[in-house]
Amino acid sequence: MLRVGLTGGIGAGKSTVASRLAEHGALLIDADTIARDVVEPGTPGLAAIVAEFGDGVLAEDGSLDRPAMAERVFNDDTARSRLNGIVHPLVGERTAELLATAADDAIVVHDVPLLVENNLAPSYHLVLIVDAPADVRVRRLAESRDMPERDARARIAAQAEERQRRAAADVWLDNSGTPDVVRSEVDALWTERLVPFEANVRLRRPAPWGRTLVEHDPVWQEQARRVLDRIRLVAGERAVRADHVGATAVVDLPARDVLDLQLTVRSAQDVDALAPALTDAGFPLADAVSPVPDAVLHGGADPGRPVSLRVLVDGSPAARRALLLRDWLRADVDARAEYARIKREHADVPGIADTATGAASAAETVGDVRYAEAKRMWFDDVTAKADRWAAETGWTP
Ligand code: ADP
Repeated sequence: MLRVGLTGGIGAGKSTVASRLAEHGALLIDADTIARDVVEPGTPGLAAIVAEFGDGVLAEDGSLDRPAMAERVFNDDTARSRLNGIVHPLVGERTAELLATAADDAIVVHDVPLLVENNLAPSYHLVLIVDAPADVRVRRLAESRDMPERDARARIAAQAEERQRRAAADVWLDNSGTPDVVRSEVDALWTERLVPFEANVRLRRPAPWGRTLVEHDPVWQEQARRVLDRIRLVAGERAVRADHVGATAVVDLPARDVLDLQLTVRSAQDVDALAPALTDAGFPLADAVSPVPDAVLHGGADPGRPVSLRVLVDGSPAARRALLLRDWLRADVDARAEYARIKREHADVPGIADTATGAASAAETVGDVRYAEAKRMWFDDVTAKADRWAAETGWTP
């Protein structure tokens, strides 16, 4: 099962995208609908609200008077958290009930208007954000829902800003064109990413990655941050720290398009205990032998964002070394240039330059081994330098 979070500002086109995903077979779970259902007349939810806020929040027909309730909590953080304290657990329970009915191979799309505002992104395998410029949204809301411009603008202003949404988005769907444009983007996303992602999660296999050395891409840092947030959420208190390491973490360096991530945990027992939860969250155990001593290797199941995740016990010399070499390379422009040269030189062998579908052929394996060996030798040579740099600068992990 794959769990996708779908959000976007009001009028951006969430419902349009959600219904296209449903046409492909996604199971939709609509947070707004659930939030209304759990406080319908006669529900324990509504009874709890009346017990807390009095029957001044009821309409004449006994249903929740939403505008009155909204007014009550609008400028009152305590009241709002009391209300959320009643509604959120009920929404959580109902969502869990719906999830329990989903097929093993379901692609579940959670339509959650306040996903970004409530920092929920890390709890999904993937976050999909639909956006359109504010003026376009205001116009569409006026046409489709008769919403006055002032109301539309006030709602837009109360929601997250584009910058916050972009930071949370694994996939950004621009819906400023015609509905056909966004629908065909959804079609491609479904076939090329969601379907294989779901299969990889269910079959517990990491997505393959290309073997080509590519120029540094600034989006790697942002992508790593999002993936690390997921990993930290899964690891909880067992995590000591989670970091982006390797060449994709160092600006300027060419790299293969796979993010190297490193999670350090408190004990060897934590390494084993976390494996099932990491697997469910989309980071199954990898078959490959770990190039790092003492690390257990996981891989990301998302074909749109290949990830290699090593899990080590805190205090492991290998974990420290990965952080040291990263920071030293970040600080030393000459070292960076030299490492980039070594990488380019040794990547230029058969197998590395070919973008393979992941199943390494014999030539690729030979190429990979040589490439890995060249990098290892260079790192062995420079470790003393990096250690001196650490001593001089007072570097600690
Ligand atoms: P949301 O669910 O994000 O609030 P909707 O999907 O309901 O937004 O879209 C708001 C309105 O704009 C709807 O009436 C919808 O039909 C319309 N709409 C959505 N996408 C487009 C588009 N690309 N071009 C024109 N109208 C659109």
